[in-house]
Amino acid sequence: MTDYSDQLISIVMPVFNEEALIMKTIRTVQGFVSQQPENYEIIFVDDGSNDSTTDKIRKAIAFHPEMRLVRFSRNFGHQLAITAGIRYATGKAVVVMDADLQDPPAVIADMVTAWHRGADVVYGKRKQRDGESWFKKISAKAFYRLLHSITNINIPVDTGDFRLMDRKVVTVLERMNEDEPFVRGMVSWVGFKQTAVEYERQPRTQGESKYPLHKMVRLAMDGITSFSNLPLKFANWAGSILCLSAIVTMIVAIWTGFTGTMLLLIVDLLIGGFLLLSIGILGQYLGRVFNQSRERPLYVVAETMGFPSGVNQHHIARTVSVDSVNKVNKVQKVRNQS
Ligand code: UDP
Ligand code: MG
Repeated sequence: MTDYSDQLISIVMPVFNEEALIMKTIRTVQGFVSQQPENYEIIFVDDGSNDSTTDKIRKAIAFHPEMRLVRFSRNFGHQLAITAGIRYATGKAVVVMDADLQDPPAVIADMVTAWHRGADVVYGKRKQRDGESWFKKISAKAFYRLLHSITNINIPVDTGDFRLMDRKVVTVLERMNEDEPFVRGMVSWVGFKQTAVEYERQPRTQGESKYPLHKMVRLAMDGITSFSNLPLKFANWAGSILCLSAIVTMIVAIWTGFTGTMLLLIVDLLIGGFLLLSIGILGQYLGRVFNQSRERPLYVVAETMGFPSGVNQHHIARTVSVDSVNKVNKVQKVRNQS
């Protein structure tokens, strides 16, 4: 049997106000990794929790040397939390999973097997989504299919961010500095050998979903605007159709002598609606360009804990850690005093 004990795998888990279930997650994931032949590090990215989640993780780290914490200065969102976790991970493979156990850790073993067999990305494909509202299921299904049909990148349907990535994929991701990332699309964009393992998405046992409707809509917009320019072409098509219908209407009006005000009103509404819609679509893309052009750090790390000393993030663009700046200042102060 191959000895995998020197093979480090990182598990990255974004967490936001999960005090109700974080201890259960820690126990379950801990139990899973202790059974595996590979070596694991578990990185929690605390996305600005304001409940007792952070304290619970800090306490657990004291007992578990393989656990680490990266705490954001505020809530930057699930996708940026994943981005940060990937950048802090040092494993030969990196697994991203939600912290609410909807993605069962046991599936990681299947992902690792597929990786050992040569896959570079192993994504979790949801066979079933138990315990989620019909609205969430239908909207998610429709969104994945829409995205799939309007982009040239092969973004698999019914997959979230639960996946394993080989180090070479992670190296590419680290260099993609997107302000509003759609990580699952970016991973597909990278390419290499990508394969799926199917699993049943479990219902949440505790706590509420941290993805209210407005966050879902934002994620969907980020997915579409970062992977398709098709909506921008909408104005061309709709404009052509409107011009054609205007000509047809004119001919009909001349032919029949019909000049109803209703008709004018309808055409007016149609043109007005179309113009506003086109401006809105332009705005979405312009907003992305604007955000990207400011080149702010993607997120602010307020604290790190549990990392072996020497973890240095400064080689990665647009990463800021107040924590490491503090540490450097402290060292300089000590040097100046001595
Ligand atoms: N999460 C996060 N930041 C946010 C929202 C969510 O880090 O702003 C985390 C959350 O704690 C969980 C994961 O992202 O570990 C997925 O969120 P959630 O389970 O609420 O999403 P759903 O499964 O309902 O789509
Ligand atoms: Mg969830």
